[in-house]
Amino acid sequence: MTRLKQFDCIVIGAGAAGLMCAGTAGQRGRSVLVLDHANKVGKKILMSGGGRCNFTNLYVEPENYLSANEHFCKSALSRYTQYDFLELVARYDLAYHDKGAGQLFCDDKAKDILNILLAECDLGGVAIQTDTPIKTITEQDEGFIIETEVGDYRCQSLVIATGGLSIPKMGATNFGYKIAQQFSLSINTTEPALVPFTLSDAWLTVAQKLSGVSLDVSVSCANQAFHEALLFTHRGLSGPAILQISNYWYHSDEISIDFLPDTSLVDLLEQWQAAGEKTSLKNLLGYHLPKRFVLAWLSQLDSALADKQVKQLSNKDSEQLVSAFHHWVIKPSGTEGYRTAEVTRGGVNTDSISSKTFAAKTNENLYFVGEVLDVTGWLGGFNFQWAWASGWCAGQYV
Ligand SMILES: Cc1cc2nc3c(=O)[nH]c(=O)nc-3n(C[C@H](O)[C@H](O)[C@H](O)COP(=O)(O)OP(=O)(O)OC[C@H]3O[C@@H](n4cnc5c(N)ncnc54)[C@H](O)[C@@H]3O)c2cc1C
Repeated sequence: MTRLKQFDCIVIGAGAAGLMCAGTAGQRGRSVLVLDHANKVGKKILMSGGGRCNFTNLYVEPENYLSANEHFCKSALSRYTQYDFLELVARYDLAYHDKGAGQLFCDDKAKDILNILLAECDLGGVAIQTDTPIKTITEQDEGFIIETEVGDYRCQSLVIATGGLSIPKMGATNFGYKIAQQFSLSINTTEPALVPFTLSDAWLTVAQKLSGVSLDVSVSCANQAFHEALLFTHRGLSGPAILQISNYWYHSDEISIDFLPDTSLVDLLEQWQAAGEKTSLKNLLGYHLPKRFVLAWLSQLDSALADKQVKQLSNKDSEQLVSAFHHWVIKPSGTEGYRTAEVTRGGVNTDSISSKTFAAKTNENLYFVGEVLDVTGWLGGFNFQWAWASGWCAGQYV
């Protein structure tokens, strides 16, 4: 019988959380092997933030995360904060900037973040092996046997860091959920999140006509609102405001959009009326909103509205205008799915995971970190901060 290669800890998944966990454990003196089925490590880091990786946020709070157990993320987020990650990147002289609202991006490229994680793994003597599909995991003698297509390994602590389901062509799989189920842990329903909405019928035609138009809106759903940019696409609605609200959206929910979140159209109409404005409504609104959008929106109401002057508006016209521009209520037909979603909502039920060690409560040698867990962050660097925090905390115990 061939002797199995033995490690203190094996991490499956060489992404943000897995590499953070591996480097931390290695630097504690643990022998660590990271296995990944993909041909390259950290693919999502490389594609993140438009190639510049929005690696954390200055204003991380538990409220920026969704989970069936809203308390679960608190401990890790307070033990490894955004400032801890900033201290790490400062050691490597990473140049970065705040793109607004505390969203920190690399000045240069996302690869700089991956290189920092790999350097930390090097410091901990971590071995990393890509192109290694996992066949089976078996519990044995207070540890695990990991059978892969390129050899078999034994470890005491096993960390599942295989992420969520978004972007399958980048290597996303349901492996983590299957292992959780193998060890009798439950999974909270998984769905694409931080994802564009699709529209159908007449509104799809309108969105297609407006494809490429971006405007500042306030969008709300399920008692949550976001004030950011919306982008019309040839499939429906996208942009940061839409991605954010998609975290809170369930099929058949309506969303409400205010296209003039900083201006009252009632006040504007009164001012224009009082000033005796003779300019057409389409031109007056065009000072506040993109012209293409104004024309499309007015023509939804009444084809004659665009060329009317304010004094020609009936009360009913004014009411319709206010409603159309401040309270557009729409029921998306769906989302673009995992093909374009940035994250997965749902995942391994955190009730069965220790928020201190990240080990399964029923198996102290089996750990879950990162997006595979039922913890989903807002857009803005929150998901990476969760990967760093959960990976670092587990790294103290594995
Ligand atoms: C396009 C895009 C842009 C994003 N931009 C940002 C951003 O700017 N800021 C931010 O905070 N978040 C961003 N995110 C989200 C962020 O990338 C994830 O939340 C984060 O990478 C999760 O880390 P993780 O380590 O849990 O999983 P991942 O980084 O997904 O890593 C999982 C690893 O497991 C491996 N794996 C999967 N299945 C198997 C298997 N069966 N066997 C072996 N290995 C396996 C994968 O190959 C991968 O290397 C973005 C996501 C996408 C898709």
